[in-house]
Amino acid sequence: MKGTPFDFFVQFHLTERCNLACRHCYQTGAVSEMSYEEICGALTEVQAAIEGWATDYSLDVSPSLHFTGGEPLLRGDLLPILRHGRACGFTTSLMSNGTLIDAFTARQLRRAKVRDVQISLDGVGTTHDRLRGNGAYQRTLAGIRHLVSEGMEVHLNVTVSRLNFGQTEDLVGLAEEIGAASIGFSRLVPSGRGKGLLAHLLTAQEVSAFYNDLRGYRKRSGVIVTSLDPLAAVADLAGEIPQTELPVGGCAAGMFGVTIMADGTVMPCRRMDLPIGNIKADSFRDLWARSPILWLLRTRSSYHGGCETCRYWPLCRGCRAIALAFARAKGDEDYLGPDPQCPYHRSS
Ligand code: SF4
Ligand code: SF4
Repeated sequence: MKGTPFDFFVQFHLTERCNLACRHCYQTGAVSEMSYEEICGALTEVQAAIEGWATDYSLDVSPSLHFTGGEPLLRGDLLPILRHGRACGFTTSLMSNGTLIDAFTARQLRRAKVRDVQISLDGVGTTHDRLRGNGAYQRTLAGIRHLVSEGMEVHLNVTVSRLNFGQTEDLVGLAEEIGAASIGFSRLVPSGRGKGLLAHLLTAQEVSAFYNDLRGYRKRSGVIVTSLDPLAAVADLAGEIPQTELPVGGCAAGMFGVTIMADGTVMPCRRMDLPIGNIKADSFRDLWARSPILWLLRTRSSYHGGCETCRYWPLCRGCRAIALAFARAKGDEDYLGPDPQCPYHRSS
């Protein structure tokens, strides 16, 4: 009998170019993008690693590719890349700002068998425009409507800070009205251009209040209301907490997925900006198995400042990108310290 497959994702940034210039963007500057052939080579490399895990460890892997950017629709070869990803055995998703999606593009994405499209939406009306540029809101809504009309599964993603956390009700209502499959909320990570928004991050108390409210919306909304934030999972925990020395949930960095940047740089998570190698030069399987950074992320005793003594460690570990961004703001290159927005620490 087969067990539950291991869901493994690659967040693949195809370009750093973008038609918007959002205030909280993680991008840091232009890079030399991989060619179509190099991207296909990278996908083949990851596919070989996954096949190796299946053969050597009888691991049943369910692999997915989340293509993003910059704005991935700026790549003229996006459709062949999507098709190649599927041919390599991955399910494919697209993460976009939505502003370049017209009826024709939506149809092409459906025909390329993209499983779902995640669209960033950071507020209603002028709130979204203040973060993403004038006119972006209406163009994003138009893109969402084209996708929904084409029968595509659309997930909205909101980056939460003090600039928009009073808009949850309106955003959930909009998600219902526009026909989205779900709306998800992530905390703002103050890296890249987002460093300028440090003063707008939620406090630990505000995070706690926010996730309590979200539980209410989840119960009474006609759309799936969700969050991949480990702290959101802790806020919802009920019953037994598994006590293991290996993570079983929580922060995906080093555990359930990896990021490949447009120039081939491999990182534990896009928001962490910590290179562990380059897919053009390194064996993906070796990076996953041997990267010291990934192993520190997987090891309880390497943490300090709270998570290592917390009962929730196997299911949480906080957001390592936020821990790193706060440490960097103090001049410290530390990704294993406390998540300073955590309200939930519970001693073992
Ligand atoms: S202390 Fe760390 S592991 Fe515990 S709840 Fe907070 S962020 Fe999660
Ligand atoms: S570092 Fe933060 S954003 Fe990245 S996988 Fe972990 S929780 Fe998610």
